[in-house]
Amino acid sequence: MLFAPEALTPTIESARRVLKQYYGYDSFRPMQEDIIRNIMGGHDTVVLMPTGGGKSVCFQVPAVVLEGVCVVVSPLIALMKDQVEALKANGISAEYINSSVGQAEQNSIAGDCLNGHLKLLYVSPEKLVSPGFTQFLKRLRISMFAIDEAHCISSWGHDFRPEYTQLRLLREQFPQVPIIALTATADRLTQRDIQQQLKLHEPRVFLSSFDRPNLNLIVRPGQDRVAGILEFIERHPNESGIIYCLSRKQCETLTAKIQQKGVKAGFYHAGMTPNQRAAVQEGFLKDDLQVIVATIAFGMGIDKSNVRWVMHYNLPKNIEGYYQEIGRAGRDGAPATAVLFYSFADVMSLRDMLTKDNPSLTQLNLTKLERMQQFAEAASCRRKILLNYFGETLPHDCGNCDICRNPPTTFDGTLIAQKALSAVVRMRERGSIGLLIDVLRGMRNQAVLSGGYDQIKTYGAGADLPYLDWYSYIHQMLNDGLLYIAYEEGYALKITELGKLVLQGQRQLPMKKFQPAEKAEKLPKGKKAPRGTGKAVDAGTQLFEKLRSLRKRIADEQNVPPYVVFSDATLQEMAVERPTSRVAMLAISGVGMKKFENYGEQFIREIMAQGGAPSPDDAAEADQAALDLEVAPPARKPREAGDTHDNTFQLHRQGLSIDEIAERRNLSPGTIRSHIETLYAKGSPIRLEEFLSQGEYAEIMTARAQLGGEPQLRDLFDHLREKYDYFKLRLASLYQKRLSGK
Ligand code: ADP
Ligand code: ZN
Repeated sequence: MLFAPEALTPTIESARRVLKQYYGYDSFRPMQEDIIRNIMGGHDTVVLMPTGGGKSVCFQVPAVVLEGVCVVVSPLIALMKDQVEALKANGISAEYINSSVGQAEQNSIAGDCLNGHLKLLYVSPEKLVSPGFTQFLKRLRISMFAIDEAHCISSWGHDFRPEYTQLRLLREQFPQVPIIALTATADRLTQRDIQQQLKLHEPRVFLSSFDRPNLNLIVRPGQDRVAGILEFIERHPNESGIIYCLSRKQCETLTAKIQQKGVKAGFYHAGMTPNQRAAVQEGFLKDDLQVIVATIAFGMGIDKSNVRWVMHYNLPKNIEGYYQEIGRAGRDGAPATAVLFYSFADVMSLRDMLTKDNPSLTQLNLTKLERMQQFAEAASCRRKILLNYFGETLPHDCGNCDICRNPPTTFDGTLIAQKALSAVVRMRERGSIGLLIDVLRGMRNQAVLSGGYDQIKTYGAGADLPYLDWYSYIHQMLNDGLLYIAYEEGYALKITELGKLVLQGQRQLPMKKFQPAEKAEKLPKGKKAPRGTGKAVDAGTQLFEKLRSLRKRIADEQNVPPYVVFSDATLQEMAVERPTSRVAMLAISGVGMKKFENYGEQFIREIMAQGGAPSPDDAAEADQAALDLEVAPPARKPREAGDTHDNTFQLHRQGLSIDEIAERRNLSPGTIRSHIETLYAKGSPIRLEEFLSQGEYAEIMTARAQLGGEPQLRDLFDHLREKYDYFKLRLASLYQKRLSGK
């Protein structure tokens, strides 16, 4: 076994190698490394990280590195199955035991555990605490217990599971085995419960940022939302998405409208049988259904990493729920979109609902709803508001929300405000927002006429502005405290003292300009591949679609969800980088050894069939790949503008390091390293000394001489006891070739 020597003294380097070999990732995310160090040191650990933050790696990587089996407790059968499938696809031996697994299979899994073949064993909490099973576990060498979704232990949390409270037994029965508890819920009470109930011993708590920078946050006015949704879906062909609705009826009618557009959509709500629900969920996981329209019952415990967007048809009740739901988009880290449709009518019906729901919690729930409403009406960076809610401060505006992308301009809104305030007073503070707007715009409907409002002086005074503009301005006045809503009086608008000052002309009122819908930024276009630029992206988009279909074919053959084969983020990088050799393919983030063995060839063939490597200079590489794979070399395509190697070269010339270039280009450092190698091999003036010192070169050459002949890089790597990575080894051999004039 490759990592056997380190098993005795595990190091973070061995963990990093596992990450590259099995997961195909170049580096740990911030915090993952510290967490892994802590676990490998044998300490109890608590991890609080948002969905998509990368919790699994935190225990899976040490599980591979450490001796013995890691026992993972997970509350949902679907989640277990998903994680085990993903582990196996990466070449890590893992199994699960729960009520869905037959006895014969359980026995065979138990055998694997006793043989020491298994690195991770997932079990349900019920199974774990059953007496026979605890006895069985005592016969194993257990590296650690990982408690996933650990918030289920707390009766304070939103997802309490009584079985979880029995997990205290683990510490009693296995005092020496470290415990790692993981959750995406960060509140203090839950955190305290986790530590106390699991009897953790001086655990280190890792609280990661709850920011999800890849999510583009958008709020749109609720008028015409069906048209908005249909247009969005049309602009995002083939992208998986979830739409949350409040009612079952809405789910079903909206689904029908989406289906009429020829999009594969399904609905999901609590009124369906478990079988119907399971079938819809399965269809979504396997990309057979592109869109799911669901009540909030959907999404809990699914791990689908390629959900590209989430929409809210209605305003959610609170920010916690909203954040959890939008968190289901973009778990793979690639760009994703969250769209919320906001209308004041939703606030009113939610208020009614919450007031009736649970009297003792009414005040709390209404306050939470108010915060949600403020978010939806905000005229400043939305991400700042969200993170603020979770107690985090973002030092700068995010640049990836509708407000940041399209900042509103300010103008003197005193006159506009005066018109509205005057109408409010003349309507004797009896009108709701809708009625006020109708009066201002001079509408002749029943409500206006029966109130006699067509007789007041301000009737029609605002006919020059469309409904939506007035809607926005009145909300700004509410937020600025000029008006308030008397909920108990049929939502009538009332004027405040401050409002009176403005009305009397004693105060100016700056307002944010409303962006009329057609002029406002269109919702972001689908597949605007974030990596690379210009023409390369269009070509990349086509290739991405081909790779996506290939992924779907493979997934169906193997009966796994497509994202288990490769994530969207990985396919996007492939579509831009067009790797046609083993080296280049392994440099793509998300391509580990096992996946390369299983799928590498098929993906390389597809890339070559679509025109192969991005520039003719890579033809040699493509030829070599063709040789390796015994297929004909691809037809050569002319070089495209903005060649990916050139772009890397330009940044290298400006003195940027590999990590800086990777960051700037939004590519993995491994990809940039492979660019540097190719550039150097082509004779580009690369500053080699930055990557390889004379001393290192000499040592590598000595090792070569000792091995004799033309040793394989692999042998060289082992001979040097893994002191130098393959990048340095390859550069050394290229340098040597150049010196010897080959
Ligand atoms: P969580 O369990 O916290 O919701 P996951 O463990 O499912 O998150 O990780 C989310 C995504 O991020 C997965 O696609 C995972 O493979 C990827 N990921 C995790 N760690 C890294 C890393 N160090 N580099 C790149 N991608 C990573
Ligand atoms: Zn922002």
